[in-house]
Parts: sequence; structure tokens; C-alpha cells
Amino acid sequence: MGNLIQLRAPWTTEWKQRELESLWEQWKDCDRCGLCDTRKNVVFGEGNPNADIILIADRPGETEDGEGRPFIGRAGNLLDSLLQIVDLPREEIFITNLVGCWPPETREPTKLEMEACFDRLTRIIYIIDPYIVIAAGKLALITLTRNRSLSIEKEHGKLFSSPHPSARVKGEREGMKIPGVVMPLKDDDKQMHTLEYDLVPIYHPAYIGRFDSFDEDKGTFSPGGYAHQTLDDLNAIKERVQRMKSEYETARTQMERM
Ligand code: SF4
Repeated sequence: MGNLIQLRAPWTTEWKQRELESLWEQWKDCDRCGLCDTRKNVVFGEGNPNADIILIADRPGETEDGEGRPFIGRAGNLLDSLLQIVDLPREEIFITNLVGCWPPETREPTKLEMEACFDRLTRIIYIIDPYIVIAAGKLALITLTRNRSLSIEKEHGKLFSSPHPSARVKGEREGMKIPGVVMPLKDDDKQMHTLEYDLVPIYHPAYIGRFDSFDEDKGTFSPGGYAHQTLDDLNAIKERVQRMKSEYETARTQMERM
């Protein structure tokens, strides 16, 4: 079980906080892609530096651009309501997007724009070291899994397995599974590493809001529909995180006894 211990980075909350602040300093005036010409603010991401879950959506909207915060406005209210219903407060997770800047007219970001912003995203995942990454919406799903043929309608709620054979073989040799998605990551010395994590897609809150009726004042949804499927997915994610934490603690205790 030694590898399991190594897969969870032993970062302290203070270290995570410091690293996220330093990352924000590096990206707040970013001009790596053309979106810097039209944005008002880089929407870096926000939430608990010690989060068990990172939620990654596609791009900030115009309201988010104005305030520099992800998921505010109607889609943000809808997300908050979903999280409240499953008792997963927004403050306990970390929320960000594939790109940090609002694409004009809220168009889909281009491949080049997403690639330009990828270092920010992988570094955030590396620092926070979550148990689960939630891909909110189709673009986040196909970008993070690097599989354009996937459909959010078919894949939402499913756990994604590592496409990286060496990680899988290594895990199996150690007698455990390493499900997850592997992303390339450069460290400060530009060394390439792999970043492994479990990924579960859900519907994007804005997509839910287009099809389901949502009462913003009461935070309630029409029965059935995308919101209720997403609540099931979020509940399963929450249970999975609890299980992973407990397995990790058991492995750590066994390791300490050895
Ligand atoms: S989208 Fe990302 S890479 Fe492009 S300017 Fe904004 S922060 Fe920089």
C-alpha cells in the first residue's frame, strides 16, 4: 500500500495557501493568449485550499469576468443550490475553469486558449491534491479526458479510468487500482511528471438551467430532469470521497505500524 501513500501529496494547508497565492500572482496579469485583450479580470478559481474535490467547468461568463470569481449569477446560484441539497458546501470545494478569462460573447474557448491556460489548471490540481476532480459539462469532460467522442449525457456520473498504461500497471502490481486521468505536469525545474486523479463528469449548471425549471429564491428544481440526475451524481461523488479518505487513513495507519 506504500504507493497509495505516495499518491497523496503530504502538503500542509499553509503550504497550499501560500502556493495558490503565489500562483495567483503569476497569473493575474497573464497575457499568454489573446483572451487577455478583452477580459476585465482573470478568474483564477476559488475555494478551500484543502478541498477534497475540485470542480472544473469550461469558461467564465461575463458576470464572472466583471467580478473575477467563478460561478456567480444564475448558474452560480444553481450550482450553490445543488451543492447545498447534497450537503457539500461550496466553501469546502475548489472551483475553477479550463480557461481563466472570459471569451467574448461567452463563446467556446479555442484549443490554443485552453492549452495556454493548462499550466495554471494542472498546478492548481497539483497543489490542492484532491480526491476527485469533477468535470462540469461536455467541454471539460472531453478536454480533461482528451477524448472528443465522449458525450456528457452518457458519461455523467461515471468514474474515469487512467488512460496511462504505466500508472495502471504500477498500481496493479502494488495490488490496488489507480483509476483516474493522467495529465502531464511540469515542476519548477521543468521536469515532466504525471498528475493522477479520479475524474467524474456532471452536467454543467448552465446546461441544467436551460432545460430544468429552477426557482432561484427557493433553490428548488422541477422533479426529474438534469438537476436530479446531477444530485444523484454529486451524492455518489461525496460517498466515494468519504470511502477514499477512510481507505487512505487505514493505509496510512498500516504504514505507520510497519
Ligand atoms: S485564458 Fe489563461 S492563458 Fe489566456 S490570458 Fe487568460 S489566464 Fe492567460
